[in-house]
Amino acid sequence: MRRIDRKRVERLRRRVVSIGLSFAVGALAAAALIAHNEAPVPRAEPAAVATSGVSLPDTVVPRATAIQAAPVSIGEATGVLTKRHLLIPVEGISAGALQDTFDDARAIGRRHDAIDIMAPRGTPVRAVEDGTIAKLFTSKAGGLTIYQFDPTQTFSYYYAHLDRYAAGLAEHQDVRRGQLLGYVGSTGNASEDAPHLHFAIARLDTDHSWWKGDPINPYPLLAK
Ligand SMILES: [Zn+2]
Repeated sequence: MRRIDRKRVERLRRRVVSIGLSFAVGALAAAALIAHNEAPVPRAEPAAVATSGVSLPDTVVPRATAIQAAPVSIGEATGVLTKRHLLIPVEGISAGALQDTFDDARAIGRRHDAIDIMAPRGTPVRAVEDGTIAKLFTSKAGGLTIYQFDPTQTFSYYYAHLDRYAAGLAEHQDVRRGQLLGYVGSTGNASEDAPHLHFAIARLDTDHSWWKGDPINPYPLLAK
């Protein structure tokens, strides 16, 4: 009996260590990407968070897992998101004006993984659907950015190069589709004479970290 318990504890310990390690490796990989051009979807992660993965068993299991459906595959994700009828996030821009720049090269070996929506500085940026503000983050590439999670915390919507945030916008705040989030600008590495919204969608990992996820092309979801 005691031997079995010990085995169980050992197995649990190994799982915790390996999950902790994968967190640390992921954070290192993310940090290595910061140096590159254009706002990255594999997100720049503040060093402090890297240690949070190596911890007690109860924090290893994501809190939301129990109440959520099985994560969608990348293949299913576009189908799921199509049904959400996402709003074009820049006011006054029609579907026909959008360009698919998702596969464009942005730095050596890097794909854009986002679309750029050109608009005059100060044009309102609005939430593509309901959700929660997961993070307000300033990065070298993305400048002033917003990470919004969808209501099921399956996807993140990333708005970058903002000129400024909407008054009163705060992390953990619930937002509604069409709500004003900020204004188009050229903060970060955007050219000052070509203000635009860099918009990206990611399928979140099971740990719901705002700086991670697999990129999904927003173009077919908005240009319909
Ligand atoms: Zn871009």
